[in-house]
Amino acid sequence: MIIRFLFSAFGFRCKYLLALACISHWQPAPDHWQLATDVSTIRQAIKDLLLEQPLSALELSQQLGIPEKEALDHLAHIAKAPGQGCRFHIFPAACKHCGFVFKKRERLTIPSRCPICRGESIRRPRFEVVRN
Ligand SMILES: [Zn+2]
Repeated sequence: MIIRFLFSAFGFRCKYLLALACISHWQPAPDHWQLATDVSTIRQAIKDLLLEQPLSALELSQQLGIPEKEALDHLAHIAKAPGQGCRFHIFPAACKHCGFVFKKRERLTIPSRCPICRGESIRRPRFEVVRN
């Protein structure tokens, strides 16, 4: 009897979770997509994401559904004017082969090759916005 009850309760729960999973899949697009319709909202969305965690231009482009190049353009603006009480921080690119870190590089794009080992496997720089 008890076992039967537990089984039915569990079964119900499974169906409920399945329904929830379906509903969440039906949502057409993340909020960012709907918001990201003009330059200032995209830039704000990028800033909001970078306040939460460091991200590369590629990761930003994937999360917002924009080309990486566009994400880099926005990043250049945010770097110059991160907003009052905020500063823009770069986690520099690094060579995956020898570990060389591109500390002095101020450009936001990924370097094409390592000056030490000439390797072309480079970890993208990541960016963060920090509140002072
Ligand atoms: Zn290297």
